[in-house]
Amino acid sequence: MSAYGFLDEGPSYEVQFSEDENEDVVRAIELSLQESQAKEINMGDMEFPQIDEVEELAQELEESTLSSTDLSASTGGIELEWWKLFKDFNPSVPTSKGTSWWRKSSKQCNTLVCDVCEEQICSAWLRCTYWGQTFCQKHTSDGTPCCCACSRFKIGDMKYITLSDGRKLCPDCRHTAVMDPEDCKPLLDEVHRFFKGLNMKIRYYIPILLVDNDEIIRIHKKNLFGSTLYEKFELDAVNYVTRSTQKGKSIEVVKEVEQLLPGRKVKAVLLLYGFPKIALGATLAHEMMHAWMRVQGYPGLPLPIEEGLSQVMAHKWLEWQSFAGDDYMKGTSDKAQFLRNLKEFLKYGIEKRHSEAYGHGFREVKWAVERYGLRYTLEHIARARKLPK
Ligand SMILES: [Zn+2]
Ligand SMILES: [Zn+2]
Ligand SMILES: [Zn+2]
Repeated sequence: MSAYGFLDEGPSYEVQFSEDENEDVVRAIELSLQESQAKEINMGDMEFPQIDEVEELAQELEESTLSSTDLSASTGGIELEWWKLFKDFNPSVPTSKGTSWWRKSSKQCNTLVCDVCEEQICSAWLRCTYWGQTFCQKHTSDGTPCCCACSRFKIGDMKYITLSDGRKLCPDCRHTAVMDPEDCKPLLDEVHRFFKGLNMKIRYYIPILLVDNDEIIRIHKKNLFGSTLYEKFELDAVNYVTRSTQKGKSIEVVKEVEQLLPGRKVKAVLLLYGFPKIALGATLAHEMMHAWMRVQGYPGLPLPIEEGLSQVMAHKWLEWQSFAGDDYMKGTSDKAQFLRNLKEFLKYGIEKRHSEAYGHGFREVKWAVERYGLRYTLEHIARARKLPK
């Protein structure tokens, strides 16, 4: 099998449950929905919703998240919840009752060994075909470390570290992680070069601030990889990460307050620290596209076009890494190979996303850009506020 052998089908999670566990599984999903959306969805007295209803709830969840985004004030990046990740990487989950996704499973029970606990799997399990991990579903909630960047669970004696906000990072992602402004500076230069190469030079000064998840939650009340704060966003100061140090298995950070200047079209771009450079760069490209549109004047775009364009830029940035990326991505070392795999993982993550704005929006904008070119597509959007047909 080639190094990319497991990529053939793209990233997907397979879920298999034995018949008698259906209810538990549905309840687990229900609980995870409840946890992540405590206030936004009223679950009422619903007992065990059928999968269709879970799908609808997930849809509702997504829409409520989208509608709570005030595009005129800020643009949130990508959500982090595991459930969302699972949904996003599992495009094959059918929505109709006739083809429920857990029904054909039980036969394979007792023949599988979990990669995490190394015991035979007798209950619900998941498989990430992308990284080739198979594991008991319980590990998603029993405290087993899961890397916040590549989503791989800790296996064997891999040494995961804990970031200051509780996120876990695997050693492979740690290797190129952006931990403080010093790491971020060359990345910012690179993303500027990327935009310049597309004839979209950003001449406007935009503070790019690394923050931890606690600060993202304080500001946005939800988990995001990054965000762009526009003029109307009511926020005077950001506690940003100025330095990080590793103590044992934990990362500690020093934070300082950055006052945001009033009266600027883009007050700041916030990025969640600790992600591998390639992943953080994709988020930065996404947020810089929002900033670019704001500075150039693209007001009132429909959300799928605004987010779709930004996702196209993140995706392009990842593709650009294949030939413009650092030397550490080249060669045959395990580290270089991991980075190339991570790049594909991130790309597929964008391509297969379910969300109306981020997923569907991306695919529609990408189609237009491939057909008409980026320049014409942008000109058309600026003029008509919609994609060329
Ligand atoms: Zn966005
Ligand atoms: Zn297990
Ligand atoms: Zn990782």
